[in-house]
Amino acid sequence: RAKELGRNNCQSYTSEMNAKVRDRLRRQKQLGEALANGEFRVVYQPQVDTRSDTILGVEALLRWDHPVDGPIPPMTFIPLAEETGLIVPIGEWVLRTACFQGKAWQDAGLPAVTMSVNVSARQFLHDEWVSTVARALSDSGLEARHLELELTESLIMQDLDGCIETMKKLKEMGVQLSIDDFGTGYSSLSALKHLPIVRLKIDKSFVRELPQGEDDRAIVMAVISMSRRLNLNVIAEGVETQEQVDFLRESDCHEIQGYYFSRPVAPGDIEVMLRERGEVGALRAV
Ligand code: C2E
Ligand code: MG
Ligand code: MG
Ligand code: MG
Repeated sequence: RAKELGRNNCQSYTSEMNAKVRDRLRRQKQLGEALANGEFRVVYQPQVDTRSDTILGVEALLRWDHPVDGPIPPMTFIPLAEETGLIVPIGEWVLRTACFQGKAWQDAGLPAVTMSVNVSARQFLHDEWVSTVARALSDSGLEARHLELELTESLIMQDLDGCIETMKKLKEMGVQLSIDDFGTGYSSLSALKHLPIVRLKIDKSFVRELPQGEDDRAIVMAVISMSRRLNLNVIAEGVETQEQVDFLRESDCHEIQGYYFSRPVAPGDIEVMLRERGEVGALRAV
């Protein structure tokens, strides 16, 4: 009897696995068609200077509205896009959309802000990447200095030499580079010193428990002071409360991104904010 039960469990386990695999394959196929079907859109989250209360930049974040299942979170579909290589065409679409949007805001007379775009390893290590960026800039007319690419530590560590080479080319073009989710990866501090980056983004996992969490306080303060010494800008992600803003301000970190100021929103909402809070000519002091 026990044996039978065991076999039944085993069978249901197997069919559950099969269902999972089938689900994944179905999603993969849908993801492959989503671009052509116009199911993607880009939302933008402001990055704010708490000293001047101005918007310095916006981060472009991809959204997938599935026609049947509704919105699917990036945490679910970005890894799938990376594994399948679909991130290359999808990421190019995000980059181009963001560049055209940034230029459109400038053409509408709004203050120039930095446009930050997330880049995956598969994109960045692709032979065509630098020319893809160059084409997005020239087609849109956005100046290179208004574009920032966010890279993760794990991306950089995958192929440090290859990455540095590509980073140097982009820097020569005038594009700004930053490290996203800083502190969650394993980049060595000695490697960091040699990277042509302008900014560290403190990962939101370290911000969440501020100002109470003792360890997080220590980590955040250390990252901020290291950034100062290395002459890098630093921005805190995932800032949700006044207490967090106050702690960061006291710790000499004045750039924040998070729900405290705004969730990622549609372009029209950014336009309204830029009219109100974007100071004319408010470019980031790099
Ligand atoms: P990320 O680049 O670190 O982006 C920040 C994430 O934090 C976003 O999640 C944003 O909505 C969320 N966030 C912002 N403020 C707060 C806050 O105050 N509290 C909390 N709890 N969360 C906040 P989202 O949009 O779900 O994106 C998740 C990740 O997916 C991104 O993390 C990025 O790694 C990836 N991603 C999104 N769009 C793209 C893209 O176009 N290309 C690539 N390669 N990756 C993307
Ligand atoms: Mg990011
Ligand atoms: Mg991040
Ligand atoms: Mg990230």
